Amino acid sequence: MTASSEKQTIVVTGGSRGIGRAICIALAGPEATVYFNYASNCQAAAETEESVRAAGGVAVGICADIASETAMTDFFQRVLSETGRIDVLVNNAGMTRDGLLVRMKALDWDAVMNVNLKGAFLCAKIAAKTMIKQHSGRIINISSVVGVTGNSGQANYSASKAGMIGFTKAVAKELASRNITVNAVAPGYIETDMTEALSEKNKDVMLQQIPLGRFGSPQDVTSVVVFLASEAASYITGQVIHVSGGMYM
Ligand code: NAP
Repeated sequence: MTASSEKQTIVVTGGSRGIGRAICIALAGPEATVYFNYASNCQAAAETEESVRAAGGVAVGICADIASETAMTDFFQRVLSETGRIDVLVNNAGMTRDGLLVRMKALDWDAVMNVNLKGAFLCAKIAAKTMIKQHSGRIINISSVVGVTGNSGQANYSASKAGMIGFTKAVAKELASRNITVNAVAPGYIETDMTEALSEKNKDVMLQQIPLGRFGSPQDVTSVVVFLASEAASYITGQVIHVSGGMYM
């Protein structure tokens, strides 16, 4: 997407752990510098930076709350002051606050919507301004299979991830004429800290729902993200690609 001599700038939200870390490692390299944010886990962020370095790339982790417009404006200002461009934005930061609807606190609803959906909006809005000037860019939103299927006990999370899909399609239409593609990836059950919290009983129930008969790895998700960020995906926009072992067909 950039002239071949120019180094790409890639932004990954929530890059300190799990899927986000794997995306940082996969996208960084001699031709691309990765900037990622995280909520509070400095130790994990340093491990991402070190893993990227060990793989021959450069990643810069910055503590910045995805739900804060001020924090994310400062984050992007630093990225732009250091590199002057944004080629790829991966909206990956996410959280859960599970509970049945009748017991769900409004605070838990707001927290999940603010991080998962408003965070993606804030980052896409800021990054799009630069991508429009460049006349090129890729925005990749990490949604979830439950944004399509729903999941008992996850009304807030499912709504936020369904919202990301509508957001993806609307923004894909807005930005297509500027040579910016916007797509969503909808993972199923991926083995990270987020799913580690589930009980063994719940994990067994989940496994029964996966036709391919195994949980996914962060790398299963990154291979699709790498493809969507590549030149090979330049004619794909407004799509939702499921990476769920067939949980949703
Ligand atoms: P994870 O292991 O829990 O990691 C979450 C990441 O998001 C961490 O880097 C965390 O930073 C960051 N984060 C959380 N709240 C933030 C905030 N307010 N500001 C900035 N960063 C914040 O999650 P994961 O399993 O890798 O999931 C990554 C994405 O994939 C999420 O959007 C999730 O909803 C989605 N997804 C996951 C699965 C799955 O099975 N794992 C399935 C479908 C979709 P800290 O390290 O500082 O806390």
